[in-house]
Amino acid sequence: MNETTFSLEVRPNIPPRLERLHDLANNLLYSWERRVRGLFYRLDQPLWEACGHNPKLFLRRVSQEVLEQAAEDRAFMEDYNRTLSAFDTYLEESPTDHIASYLDPERDLVAYFCAEFGFHESLPIYSGGLGILAGDHCKAASDLCLPFVGVGLLYRQGYFDQTIDNQGRQVAHYHPTDFTTLAVRPCMGEDGGELRVAVELPGRTVLLRVWEAQAGRIRLYLLDSDLPENSEADDRSITYQLYGGGTETRIQQEICLGIGGVRALRALGLAPTVWHINEGHSAFQVVERCRELVAEGHAFDTALEAVAGGTVFTTHTPVPAGHDIFEREMMETYFAGTAEALGIDLARFLALGENAVRNGAFNMTALALRGSRFHNGVSRIHGRVASEMEAGIWPQIPLRENPLRYVTNGIHVPTFLAREWGNLFDMRLRQWRNEMLNEDFWQVVDEIPDHRYWSLRQSLKTEMLEGVAARAEHQFRRNGLSAAMIKRITRHVRQTEGDMLVIGFARRFATYKRAPLIFTHLEQLKELLNDPERPALLIFAGKAHPRDEPGQAIIHHIHELSLDPDFIGKILLLEGYDMALARLLVTGVDVWLNNPEYPLEACGTSGQKAGVNGVINLSVLDGWWGEGYDGENGWAITPHEPGFDPHYRDHEEARDLLNILSEKVLPLYYDRGKQGYSTGWVRKSKASMRTTIPRFNAQRMVMDYVRGFYGPARDQNARFMADGLKAAKELAEWKARVLDCWDGVWMQRQDEAPAAIRHGESLPIRVKAHLNGLSPEDVTVECLVTTAPDGDDPEAMERFALTAAEVAEDGNHVFSLDLEPHLPGLQYYKLRIYPSHPACSHPFELGRMVWL
Ligand SMILES: *Cc1c(COP(=O)(O)O)cnc(C)c1O
Repeated sequence: MNETTFSLEVRPNIPPRLERLHDLANNLLYSWERRVRGLFYRLDQPLWEACGHNPKLFLRRVSQEVLEQAAEDRAFMEDYNRTLSAFDTYLEESPTDHIASYLDPERDLVAYFCAEFGFHESLPIYSGGLGILAGDHCKAASDLCLPFVGVGLLYRQGYFDQTIDNQGRQVAHYHPTDFTTLAVRPCMGEDGGELRVAVELPGRTVLLRVWEAQAGRIRLYLLDSDLPENSEADDRSITYQLYGGGTETRIQQEICLGIGGVRALRALGLAPTVWHINEGHSAFQVVERCRELVAEGHAFDTALEAVAGGTVFTTHTPVPAGHDIFEREMMETYFAGTAEALGIDLARFLALGENAVRNGAFNMTALALRGSRFHNGVSRIHGRVASEMEAGIWPQIPLRENPLRYVTNGIHVPTFLAREWGNLFDMRLRQWRNEMLNEDFWQVVDEIPDHRYWSLRQSLKTEMLEGVAARAEHQFRRNGLSAAMIKRITRHVRQTEGDMLVIGFARRFATYKRAPLIFTHLEQLKELLNDPERPALLIFAGKAHPRDEPGQAIIHHIHELSLDPDFIGKILLLEGYDMALARLLVTGVDVWLNNPEYPLEACGTSGQKAGVNGVINLSVLDGWWGEGYDGENGWAITPHEPGFDPHYRDHEEARDLLNILSEKVLPLYYDRGKQGYSTGWVRKSKASMRTTIPRFNAQRMVMDYVRGFYGPARDQNARFMADGLKAAKELAEWKARVLDCWDGVWMQRQDEAPAAIRHGESLPIRVKAHLNGLSPEDVTVECLVTTAPDGDDPEAMERFALTAAEVAEDGNHVFSLDLEPHLPGLQYYKLRIYPSHPACSHPFELGRMVWL
């Protein structure tokens, strides 16, 4: 017989003195303000853990007695009042002048769209790097008082929770979230009821509820389709899972996010002046904004020009599977009506998503690029790789000069900095939170006494190992391992003196990240980890996407090795990688290992999280490490250029990795002086912290966006939206005219092109250009001078414009320049012509250029 278990939650009456705990629990500021979380932790630590660090849930379950005692506890109340006053002060701050010169807090608004947001483990709407980056972006936007809102989806089941069974198989668990336990509330409509926005899917309309979350000073709007009003059962599940379902679900989600997101902002009366598409998933917002303008009577091309001018797009991965591609038939089913509403034929609509890689299919990255004028990758290397990948959008522009730029990602330091470092900084460096943009300030890290620094790192490691041991024990007990076996597996993490080098590797188990690279030479690894004089321990964690078979095979492989008699206890594989486990590892290990296949790691933000905590990076020179590594602050594996046999490449890079470990890392760590610690290690660790904090924090990243992207996009938006879209219309018409004529444009040199001149003389250059109906004002003719014969580095070239001198007898235009070389000796120059218009956001946005 089955019996039913009913559940009952006995909720406390919050004492009036503690009433504002509600305010603290309902603002996601708790996700980056450790003092706020500390209050809940102090009240009832086991309950805090049991509630998954969720303050709102905690407040529903905490006992009356605990609250009443706390209300009478002087020390607690002092802490509470101090925290509240810091909270109130934070919320009242206003932006500094350096923001106000780019964005007007009263009139401007940045709307940041992303499919996932990782604020904290208690709001499970993220899967990995992209989401956490988006959360960090929002947190820094709040810190900097930007006029800013986030737009995303509220997933009922979020991303999966991971366990790993005793066969090393990943098991994905989906838990429906009770939204009333989250720090979100439904937005209300004008009629006083919950707000709904509608999006059209084939043959029906889907309603979306709009939730609002307060995150410090900014708001996040999240959409969900799980409503009884939705006619088809399937529609309720559109927003169930992050990256779940097939492409049909994916396109529906992206319609909800992109189109629903715009409609939600409109329904809330918000008027963004800058629109940020953070990864292609939300690019349909461009389509919706065009539709709005077309409905007001504008031509589609004008609308697209106007929309693109106010839009920023960030692409996040060079891995093809990371880019959404929808088949033509599916696009037709979902967007035939939209094309009609836009006043264009389907072919023209589908051309917005055209990409050479998969002809005929619709690529969301391509749509985002065509619908934005400000685009970037997320590190210097990735910016270059993305420029190459997407070069087809600007077919005649040299790779190095096309408009795809980069902003290197940064992490939100208060979120990922260990509490102990925060406390030490509070004591010694007082204003450190306001010094995120000041590189010089962080020299002070060197002033922390070495012994103090070392012991703090060691105690963080001990704390981390305790956390790891507890997790491992739970995991292996559930898997039915014997007590003796569990003891063997955890014997090194339980060593209380905590003096063993610990290497961490935690990230998604995607194949390009090559988690098993270190196992390429097993004998060498075995010796290295088991050296009695200088032992080391490897900790792995990470999820593989449920449909990623090779990724799951990696988990299995690590699992097997972790039980191998040679490695047992020395290689640990932990399940359930989330933000909490990430914080534990990046604050506590000694070395953070990253060995992706170059150049596929767009950024690799976990290494930054480690770096700010004084953990030392050992990484392939890819992603952020290509800029971050300075020879002193960690170790680098120089990757092979793409094109080598993968087997050979992995073999060599693994050898490099193991050699660095045995020749550099381990000797340095165990080089103990009289005081019992390694001064060389402390020096490197301090260098890691000192160089990572100011250069790779999220405020620096957001300021880069403000200066280089949001400010200019705001200006373009204002220019194009003014006077009934006059400037956008002119630009759109000019572009159409240029494209019509361009194929017939050519140039011819008119002067003698002497091979040498004397110092002090100038070189008169004359070029005849056939403009095929365009006028000289429509083009720029340019001379580029460089010392390298086949140089293509735009930074290393001097550019001189030729001026229109006269009309030749045949009707063509002659352009001339008296070139006065600045350089002595042998040099090279080239001549080119490209269309130019003052309203362009980028000189080469039309993608056309002809060389002589
Ligand atoms: C930072 C972080 C990531 C991203 O790490 P990468 O270095 O980009 O692989 C993924 N998951 C979690 C939980 C993180 O905290």
